[in-house]
Amino acid sequence: VIVVRNRADLAAARGDLQGSVGLVPTMGALHGGHLALVRAAGAAQEAVLATLFVNPTQFGPEEDVAAYPRDEAGDLALFEQAGVAVAFAPPVEEIYPTGFSTTVRVGELAAVVEGASRPGHFDGVATVVAKLLHLTRPDSAYFGQKDWQQTRVIRRLVEDLNVPARVIVVGTVREPDGLAMSSRNRWLGGPARGAATCLVRGLREAIARWDAGERGVDALEAAIAAPIRAEPMAQLDYASVRDAHTLRPVARADPPLALLVAARVGGVRLIDNALIGEGLVDVDARHVQPRHPPWRRRRERGAH
Ligand code: AMP
Repeated sequence: VIVVRNRADLAAARGDLQGSVGLVPTMGALHGGHLALVRAAGAAQEAVLATLFVNPTQFGPEEDVAAYPRDEAGDLALFEQAGVAVAFAPPVEEIYPTGFSTTVRVGELAAVVEGASRPGHFDGVATVVAKLLHLTRPDSAYFGQKDWQQTRVIRRLVEDLNVPARVIVVGTVREPDGLAMSSRNRWLGGPARGAATCLVRGLREAIARWDAGERGVDALEAAIAAPIRAEPMAQLDYASVRDAHTLRPVARADPPLALLVAARVGGVRLIDNALIGEGLVDVDARHVQPRHPPWRRRRERGAH
C-alpha cells in the first residue's frame, strides 16, 4: 500500500492508478466491517483507495475526538493485507487549513433521528466526504449499512452536488452474537460487551413481529426498545421506524423501512439498524470473501 499524507502526493498516487477506483473512507481502528467495504470495492474495481481520517468536524462539543481509538500502524497493515492500493492518512490541517469555512449541509435528512441526537454531526460527515470525493475522484464510493442514515445523506449530497461517483452500500458485519462491529466496541468492558447485544436483540424481535404481520409503528418501536429498557447497563436514545430513504416518520410499517436504534451501553454510544425492503443494500457483506488480488500478484511478479 502506498501511504500518502498530503493532497499533492494523493493527486500523484491517484493519477498513477489504472482503471476504475473504489473509495473507502474510514476513521481507522479498523474491524471486519471496514474490511468488508475494502473487499467489496476490490471485487468490483481495479484499485481501492482508502482513507484514514478521524474527522473532527463530525464530533459534537460534548464528544471527545481526541479519545477516538487510533491504531494507524495496525490499520495500514490491514489495508496492505486487504489489497488497498493507496491509503490517504492526512493530518487535520491538510483537510482543514487555516481559513477553512465552508460547510456542506444536507438539510432535513441530516436533521432527523441520529442528526437530532448529534446536532451538526452529518454536516461534518457531508463536508469531509464531499472533500474526499473531490480529492480522490472515485468511480464508486463504499459505505456501510451500519451507518444507514449516513448512506442516505451521502447519496443526497452526491446527487445534489453532481458528484460523478456511485454510492455503494455494503451490509452490516456482525460479531457471532449479533453485535454490529464498531470501532467503539473496543471500549465495551466485560459486562457491557454482553449487554451491548440488546440493540440487535430489539431489532431482531421487531423483524420477527413484522414477519408475523405486525404493521403498527408504535408496536414495532416498542419491540426494538424493550430489551434495551430491560438492560440495566443501557440507556435508550431512540428506537425509530422510518421511511428507509427519506428517514421521515411513517403512518404504517410498509417497506421500504429502516428500523433505527441508538443507546448508550456502559457509557459507550452504539447505533444499529435493520432494513425491510428490496434493493436497499448493494452488497451483502457475507458474500464478500477475503481476496488475494490477482492483479497485484501479477504486477509483483512482473516487477522481478
Ligand atoms: P467509520 O470508520 O466508523 O467512520 O466507518 C467507516 C465506514 O465503515 C462507514 O461507511 C461505516 O458505515 C462502515 N462500517 C462501520 N462499521 C461497519 C459494520 N459493522 N459493517 C459494515 N460497515 C461498517
